[in-house]
Amino acid sequence: MNIVSLVSDYVHLRRSGKNYIGLCPFHQEKTPSFTVSPERRMFYCFGCHAGGDAITFLMKIENLTFPEAVEALARRLGLKIPQKTGSDQERKDKYYRVNELACSFFENCLNGPEGMKVRDYLIQRGIKDETWRIFRLGYAPESGPFLQFMQKQGIDPFLLLQVGLIRDKVGGKELFRNRLMFPIMDLRGRVIAFGGRALDDSQPKYLNTGQTPIFEKGHHLYALHLAKRPITEVGNAIVVEGYLDAIACHQFGFHNAVASLGTALTREQVGLLARFSKKVILAYDADLAGVMATLRSLELFGQMEMEVRVANLGGFKDPDELLHQKKAEGFSRAILNSVPALDFAYEKIRQKYDWKVSQEKKEAVLELLSLISSIDSPLDQEKYIKRLALDSGFGEDTLFSQLRKLKKSSGKAVSDRSPTGLDELEGIKAKPPAAEVTFLKIIFENPELIALVEQELDPEDFSHPYLKKIFQESLFRFKNGQIDIYNITFDEPEASAFLARLLLESLPETEEPGKELKKCLLKIKKERLTREYKRLSEEISILERSGDLELFRKKLEELQSIVNKIRSLTVK
Ligand SMILES: [Zn+2]
Repeated sequence: MNIVSLVSDYVHLRRSGKNYIGLCPFHQEKTPSFTVSPERRMFYCFGCHAGGDAITFLMKIENLTFPEAVEALARRLGLKIPQKTGSDQERKDKYYRVNELACSFFENCLNGPEGMKVRDYLIQRGIKDETWRIFRLGYAPESGPFLQFMQKQGIDPFLLLQVGLIRDKVGGKELFRNRLMFPIMDLRGRVIAFGGRALDDSQPKYLNTGQTPIFEKGHHLYALHLAKRPITEVGNAIVVEGYLDAIACHQFGFHNAVASLGTALTREQVGLLARFSKKVILAYDADLAGVMATLRSLELFGQMEMEVRVANLGGFKDPDELLHQKKAEGFSRAILNSVPALDFAYEKIRQKYDWKVSQEKKEAVLELLSLISSIDSPLDQEKYIKRLALDSGFGEDTLFSQLRKLKKSSGKAVSDRSPTGLDELEGIKAKPPAAEVTFLKIIFENPELIALVEQELDPEDFSHPYLKKIFQESLFRFKNGQIDIYNITFDEPEASAFLARLLLESLPETEEPGKELKKCLLKIKKERLTREYKRLSEEISILERSGDLELFRKKLEELQSIVNKIRSLTVK
């Protein structure tokens, strides 16, 4: 595909060295900063940083979705598009069908002779058989029967690999063996993924489908297909953490319950909830992790103008335990006694510190101010400043001026406590670290050098999500013997723009790219360790007050080992 001829349909291009330049169609300009490289099949604008490959260009200029742009390109090239078989939807339908087959296979195993022990387990946990039928629980037996069943059904093993039901490669083992199975459904009730709970001492206790074309972690809520109508009827949603919590809620008549399958809620999950109700009650585990997760979700809820309360589980470990011991009545009381999440957070932070020690009091005030700065509504903000003034003895004016300072210095004061979804978003917006950019530029300029670093650098070492993706993809291409390691197509225009920038922005002259690359590598590694160091120190300062000595020591040891690693990198 000749990108120059494609772009020429929209932009007047002229040759400039190896590249073509023209006036950018995506922003107003008088001198051309829009560059097209036929060699690298990329465009990039040095003015507005738009960039990408031919597909991205079509997406942007014609306002198309990724599959539409792919189709449009194919049509330009005179390729026949097999209308039905190749379409995105058709492919997805195949994944749903395989998952559905697997789900009913697991269901049959649970209800068959091989599932007797698991049924005993469910009964012992107080789960009724009508409940496990509604949730379509199942049993994944030991290795063998599942693959034989799929083979009999004529299912292509590659399909099983794509939906994450077998491991690593075609011909690999089943991912779920001897596990109690929880199918995860989308809003329409289609099976998109599975969670499996170990029935023996296997680790991990809970195993989940990884990312697949129809499932992304943190983008779904367990049981929402059952709960969506009750949520609109009751007028609020109960969010719990685990499968068994959600199942217990439904069994005891709380049909408006969903599970987040992880402690911190993501932006996508909060967005899903917002479609059905603006009121949410969090009923998380009462341990420190649960509390921290609640705090982290607060800002997200605030941004979507949702009302969040935190249920008072009154010393019970989780909703599952509370429900089975105190029945519906006890859980109703926990919901009734729920408090606004901000009050809950405020109290939790307040109780962490010894206010009689002046240094601690100062820290407490700062942390509470940081909480208050995350509140969107000025009225609420004032309410909590008043409360803080009473608690601390500082004047309201002093607190307000400190609050303004805090906001100025950090832009967003609680950003360090944001959940994964937000982290990711902020990560994308953040300026990519120079070492990561230079590193990738060098390997694109000198693809053979990737051999020098492939063993030493992990994509996870990258802090910027798109740069991480780009490195991951190039590494994959390199390992598969491809020469064009940068010939990557992303369906996210932003990722494409990043790649274009790496490929088309020139690299500062360097005599020894290999040496320079090693330098970047060390820096990237060090920066990652520093991030871990920061994260751990924060955790430790929280743990210090929680009194969990064992965990505290363990984290301290981890911190020490990070310090040692940083040192050893410096010596090199
Ligand atoms: Zn531009």
